[in-house]
Amino acid sequence: MKGLPAETDFIVIGAGIAGLRAAIELAAAGRVLVLVKKELPHSNTPAQPAGTARLSDEDGITMHLQDTLTAGYVLCHPAAVKKLVDEGPERIEELLAWAAQLERHNSRLLFSPEAAHSHSRVLHAQGESTVSEILRTLLAKTRSLKNISCAESAFVTDLNFEDGRVTGVSLLDAKGVPQEILCSAVLLATGGLGQIYRHTTNLESATGDGIALALRAGAEVSDLEFVQFHPTALYLKKAPRFPLGEDLRAEGAHLRNIELNRFMAKFHPMGELAPPDVMTRAIIHEMEVSRAKDPFVYLDLTHLDAAKVRKRFPRVHATCMALNIDITEDLIPVRPAAHYAVGGVRTDLGGKTSIPGLFAAGEVASTGAHGANRLASNALLEALVYGSRAGKTMCDELRPGSKTRSQPRAAYSNGPLDIGVEEFIGQIQDLMWKELGPVRMRPGMQSAVRTLEEITPRVAHPKTRRTHEAAHIHATALLVARSALAREESRGAHYRIDYPDHDDRKFLKHSVVRRDSVRFE
Ligand SMILES: Cc1cc2nc3c(=O)[nH]c(=O)nc-3n(C[C@H](O)[C@H](O)[C@H](O)COP(=O)(O)OP(=O)(O)OC[C@H]3O[C@@H](n4cnc5c(N)ncnc54)[C@H](O)[C@@H]3O)c2cc1C
Repeated sequence: MKGLPAETDFIVIGAGIAGLRAAIELAAAGRVLVLVKKELPHSNTPAQPAGTARLSDEDGITMHLQDTLTAGYVLCHPAAVKKLVDEGPERIEELLAWAAQLERHNSRLLFSPEAAHSHSRVLHAQGESTVSEILRTLLAKTRSLKNISCAESAFVTDLNFEDGRVTGVSLLDAKGVPQEILCSAVLLATGGLGQIYRHTTNLESATGDGIALALRAGAEVSDLEFVQFHPTALYLKKAPRFPLGEDLRAEGAHLRNIELNRFMAKFHPMGELAPPDVMTRAIIHEMEVSRAKDPFVYLDLTHLDAAKVRKRFPRVHATCMALNIDITEDLIPVRPAAHYAVGGVRTDLGGKTSIPGLFAAGEVASTGAHGANRLASNALLEALVYGSRAGKTMCDELRPGSKTRSQPRAAYSNGPLDIGVEEFIGQIQDLMWKELGPVRMRPGMQSAVRTLEEITPRVAHPKTRRTHEAAHIHATALLVARSALAREESRGAHYRIDYPDHDDRKFLKHSVVRRDSVRFE
């Protein structure tokens, strides 16, 4: 688009699946401006082997609901799960009507099995790039709606307010110049927070921006201690942590420790199809007992039919080949990496946050649908279902002519960044990996919280995009650490060595953070 407008009706921050799906709903009510910190189409998720759940003909809503509740360790908000599984099929049908190319066999949709799903209900697109195909479809649809415009390289730095209501955003434009835009309501659809960790499957842009923006605005954030770690991300020096997913294991891939022994059966009756949190801890255990300085385990597909593997996983095959690993002949070194934020900005079933005029959807939001752990392939579905729901609710927020000049929020720190920004981010990533990784203990978490609090003044009044990202990473890391320290239980994606026993009175509550304090309810 040519230049940014001074005002619009709705602002959507993020052009991933949640943001674009919401924009399509909003276009019926007014002008929509979608802001994206990079170029379009842009998601914080790399083009990768992904799938989205939908009911197959033999499946049932109750079974998908039950699998989701089980994966979420019953901490799920049942109404949120119900909406997810009830409305999911409709959202997928709609994508097909908008010409999404999902994999078929003899003209019928092809449903694959996946870890922790009792039925084959996972759809893939064009082999392996499901996210790209859904984004392509949604982007084509948004481009057909004249009420929607998208601004690239528009990095949102703050939410602006009038009388306690969000009335717009501050941003850095493509040239790094600060701008403000007024609107009736803002949707946070900013995706994940993987970059607070040293090892992550997320792209560099997943810096927790939406969570930091919401927190600073005084919105409630929930269940952030539940960070899902992908058990088997490719582990090669200088290569991205490409996730080697559940679909590979569902096709029969084995896990082997450094002595080449299979080990998953010791940890879970489902073996290599165990829930990701169980598998992550099993791998960490095997890495620890190996006493290797730089530990990892192997994913082994060498016993499978080579031609079938190449056909089924072309992207994995090509990515590994480029790194001199032929997955049909070589073992693949893997280890866990931060993957998905189960918690986020707390919303109701219509995407409303605790702040008037502010909405959230997709990975940045916490609807409660995932409980303590997300069922594989439910994230894309959640982005579609709750993106659409948030868009519908936001339509009612339109306030024609009532927009007033916004008051930018005060800077949240004035101290200088006394070390290089990359070094500052690196320190946080290392600390989070060491003390707030898949296995946690009170003393380590306490020391991480202290360190993060101590370095708060170093986050200067940020001026560049990267210093804003550093501030967002810092704020989000501190929230995750405080929430994890407060939850004295071990279930789902949160595991504490010092609390091995289960206590439902403590566990079956959601952590809620507002400003600095954590409560459970
Ligand atoms: C490697 C990988 C594999 C995955 N596989 C699966 C799978 O198989 N099935 C599944 O269901 N889920 C999977 N997931 C999770 C799923 O892909 C994500 O949860 C989902 O795509 C998130 O969509 P979203 O719309 O919420 O955010 P995203 O797609 O992450 O989009 C976020 C958007 O916000 C923008 N943004 C962020 N901050 C700012 C800012 N400050 N200013 C302006 N714009 C901003 C970004 O530029 C981007 O456009 C996977 C995730 C990863 C990383």
